[in-house]
Amino acid sequence: MRVFDLPQTVVPVAGGDEFPVRRIYCIGRNYAEHVAEMGYDVKRSRPFFFSKPADAIVATGSEVPYPPRTENLHHEIELVVAIGKAGRDVSVEDALDHVFGYAVGIDLTRRDLQAESKEKGRPWETAKGFDHSAPISAIHRAADVAHPAAGRIWLAVNGQIRQDAALNALIWSVAESLAELSAFFEIAPGDLLYTGTPAGVGPLEPGDEVTGGIEGIDEISIKIR
Ligand code: MN
Repeated sequence: MRVFDLPQTVVPVAGGDEFPVRRIYCIGRNYAEHVAEMGYDVKRSRPFFFSKPADAIVATGSEVPYPPRTENLHHEIELVVAIGKAGRDVSVEDALDHVFGYAVGIDLTRRDLQAESKEKGRPWETAKGFDHSAPISAIHRAADVAHPAAGRIWLAVNGQIRQDAALNALIWSVAESLAELSAFFEIAPGDLLYTGTPAGVGPLEPGDEVTGGIEGIDEISIKIR
């Protein structure tokens, strides 16, 4: 027999259903202005993948504990793609057929640990894959919201706008991102893809109220405890 039970992480689907989470993939450096603010050469940079554990998911409206072992917790607002159909080596033309829906996510990042990892050539897990590091809104079915390509994406801290861009600034579009992801990994229902953040990332402190949104999708709010 199974020696203990594990809870299944789920994200609410607008309208009342639940989306069970299998894996969380993320894209790094998918907006040129963010590539530049992080100190990289935009012309020579190319987006890439990393991941977070599925149980890093945090529902919108939650309090998020300020994580240990960091003094520089950063916000990254991102469009999240929820995958509903399995595939390998999916073509760009077919990629959107694999989308269940879309959500608004925040890729919380221990920026100081990430800088140390980069400097020492170490993995990013402690910087990116920590507990409570993946806040997310409800998921909205693509059938209801269509495939977003150009809407505004924004994030505010205590009412002050920090990130404000448009989805058409994505270097890899949603379809290109999914095609590329499926060349590295077999994608499957339950996978989430955080598609990268625009410029304006910055630090969060305990007590901060973080709000964000994507035009035509939803909004998200969390409070740092
Ligand atoms: Mn990110």
